[in-house]
Order: sequence, then C-alpha cells, then structure tokens
Amino acid sequence: MELKTKSKMFCSCKNGLGQESAPNVHICPVCTGQPGTLPVPNQQAIEFVQLAGLALNCELNLKSKFDRKNYFYPDLPKGYQISQYDQPLCGLGNMDIATSVNPHQSGVPDSFSQGGKQVSNNTIKKIGITRIHLEEDTGKLVHPTGASYTLVDFNRACVPLMELVTEPDIENGEQARLFCTKLQQICRYLGISDADMEKGNMRCEVNLSLHKENEEKLSGTKVEVKNINSFRYVEKAINYEIERQTKLLDEGEKIVQETRGWDSVKNVTVSQRKKESAHDYRYFPEPDIPPMEFSQSYVDQLRLKLPELPAAKEKRFAGEYGLKADDIAVLTAAQDLAQYFENIMSELREKITSHEIQASEEKATKLAVNYLISELRKHLAENKHDVRDLKISSENYAELIGIVADGKINSSAAQIVLKEMYHTGGDPSQIIAEKNLGQMEDAGELESAVEKVLADNQKSVDDFKAGKENALKFLMGQVMKETGGKANPQVVLEMLKKKIS
Ligand SMILES: [Zn+2]
Repeated sequence: MELKTKSKMFCSCKNGLGQESAPNVHICPVCTGQPGTLPVPNQQAIEFVQLAGLALNCELNLKSKFDRKNYFYPDLPKGYQISQYDQPLCGLGNMDIATSVNPHQSGVPDSFSQGGKQVSNNTIKKIGITRIHLEEDTGKLVHPTGASYTLVDFNRACVPLMELVTEPDIENGEQARLFCTKLQQICRYLGISDADMEKGNMRCEVNLSLHKENEEKLSGTKVEVKNINSFRYVEKAINYEIERQTKLLDEGEKIVQETRGWDSVKNVTVSQRKKESAHDYRYFPEPDIPPMEFSQSYVDQLRLKLPELPAAKEKRFAGEYGLKADDIAVLTAAQDLAQYFENIMSELREKITSHEIQASEEKATKLAVNYLISELRKHLAENKHDVRDLKISSENYAELIGIVADGKINSSAAQIVLKEMYHTGGDPSQIIAEKNLGQMEDAGELESAVEKVLADNQKSVDDFKAGKENALKFLMGQVMKETGGKANPQVVLEMLKKKIS
C-alpha cells in the first residue's frame, strides 16, 4: 500500500502527484541512489503504519529498525531496497470479516481446503495479521511499444510502502475479497492511503497452498499469484488456484513452486516463473539509519489520533438511527458519505423539533436514507462525482426530505427537484415554486381531472369493476398525467375508488 505522505520515504521529493506527471521530475540524488547520499526516514510514514497497526489490533513494537534487502533490478537504483526484516513496526494483530457463505458451498472442493478453521453461514471470522512493515517502493520500467529498449521512471522510487502480511487464515476467494475491501476501507478512514487497486497504490499478492482436510501438514507447495488489479480478480484467482491445485493433487501430481499471474480475459492463472530456490536477499541492518525506539506514552498519544473506525461507526449507526444492516454498509463504506448523512440527520432532527417538519423522525430518516442510497448515488455515479463534489448542502437536502415526508410533493416531483438541486445546488422550495411542482391543493381541480379520466376510459372502469386491479393503476397514471404529476397519489386513489363504486 502506497502511503499518502507529502514527501517520499527517505528524501524530500514530492509524493503522490509524481506518478501522474512527466517521468523523472520528482527525483533527487537520494531516491536515485547517488553515491554519498544519506536517507532520512519520513516520520509521517512511520506514524501512518503505526496508526494502521493500532486500527488492526496489532502489537506496536517499541523497538524497530530498517534493513537492507539486497537484489539487483533496473528499477532499483541503489541495488538494495530499504525495508524491515526482523523488527517491523507492527507485530501480531487481527481483523474481523463477516463471511456470508460456507467455503464448502462456494465451489471449493471437499478434499482440500486452505489453512484455518471452517466457517459456517454468516459468521464473523478473525483473520490474523502477522506483521506490518514499512519500506520504499521501486521505480517503474516503461516498455515503449515497438521499441528495442526499456525506459526507467524513478518518480515512484522511494515512495513509502506499507506491507501487511496475514496469517494463513484465509480459506477462499470470498474471504480474501472481504479482507481486502475492509483493509481498503480502514486505510481510507485513517487517511493514510487512497488504497486504489486500479491506480496501483494498493497491491495484493496471493500465496496459496493446500492441505488435506483434518491434516495440519500442507500437501501442496506454495504458489504465488501476482499482478491482480481488482478485489474481484483476487477472489477469482484464488478460487481458480484452489480448483487447479486440488485437481493436480487428486491426480497424484506435485504442485510446482512458482509465481503465476492472473489473466483477467481468460479467467485463469498463468505460470510466470518457476522458483528453483528461495531468493537470498542477504538482509542486514541499514547502517545509515539508526534503530528506532518508541515510548509507551507515544503509543498512547497516537491511539488518541485514531478516528472512529468502520466497525464502531456501523454499530453507532444501528443504535442511533435504527438503520438496517444493508443501509449501514452503504452509508459507512466511505467516511464522506457517512458524514454527509449525519449532517442531514442533525438538520432533520432540528427541523422536527422546531415543528418545521410535521412527519415523524422515523419516516423522515427512512426517506433521507432511501433518497441518499438510490437517487443521490445514482446522480453521483452518472456524473462520475464524489460526495465531496456535492453541491447540495445538508440543510437543503433535509428541507427536501421534510417536504416529501409531509406530503407536500409526491415522489416523482421530488426526483425532479433533487435532480435540479444536484446540478444547481438550489433551494428546494424555490425550485418547487419555479417549476410549479407543489401538490395540487385545490380539491375541485383534482375532482374534475378524475372525472375527465373516468369519462375518457370507460373500458378500464369496466375492467376494474370486473376485478382487474391493474385497471386502477392505469387510471391512476392517467390522473397523474392529467395533473402534471402534482396530485397526491393517495388522494387520487381514494377518489377513484369512491367515484367508480
Ligand atoms: Zn528524492
């Protein structure tokens, strides 16, 4: 996971923007590995990793250090990567995921299953975290099409990289997807990374091996799957590998230790390179950076910086607003949306207390959630916007909800108003007045519209009398059309029934 610090891991070059700009502009003698330069660790990056550790129930190591991982590759200017070996910033931790299915019902064969305990339907499963450490990213190799050479872009070299390793607790693709999704959510809540798989600032490497059911010993050899750029592909790649390896083992074949890649077109993993033996990185303590020591009071202070995390927010939303689990999941997926919802709720409560809104809080809450989840999110998706781009203030949103809850406009008019508000950020009452969308208050006007529709549609009236319920819906639609959508559907329904009988 690339961390969202202002500067790089060991120099003052700009981090973040660099990767989208021209190549090799955010570089300096330190991150291009010139002789005689010295690295200076980025304090914010260290704090970010420790915050992630606290959020994931990890033990924070009070003594930690950087190590050199030696290997040669053209995108690694120093000939080694500064990483952490035996004293990472964070030790053992865990994360709960809510799995929805039994792995044995999700296409995973019976004879082999990955390490960990079996789970049943809708269970909370604890995924152990082995460690979280901090290192630097490498540069990027660029292979221009048709060219006989390769270019190196060092903008990404030395960008702080947080690496998290889990215990062998994940049993299938679904669990891996859930774990990655939640990790992404937590990192975004913490504000430490954009954690976007497509942009490459969150990457996932799968290590998979099988064991016979009821046997601890791993029957297969470890297979690594790399180059996966979405959570869906993580899930598919794992399920594919489980099936592939199970078949091989059932046929008495051996699994080859290798690195495979995910082919998202063919939906298969493909062998990329075989590993003859484990790479010897000749780790040794980084001599240019002194070891780090942290006091317990520093850790206690850091804990105070933790924001309300997704699990706590979900629990509070259930208690404070009485929302359904599905709605809570949508509203708390991103902090911005959750905050927007809470601002709306505080406006609504104020308007209800001051009798500006007559409807009950329960009714208003339900409407606010429904319009947020269906209508507003639809507009956001259509316009490729983020909650931060919203022009609708929480006050105006709450005002619209109040107007709908009190039956002053119907839902089709509300959708028009919301769309207008979305694009102009306007005030709902003003839009309703301008567009003449207020509900028809004049009973006489409505009555004549109903009578006209009944007279024009004698066949539907007869159908309804003959027991065809759909005919009534058709008549309702005609009245709404006649009144330009301004009639109150409930009143129309009553009036139609009364007039027909
Ligand atoms: Zn630099």
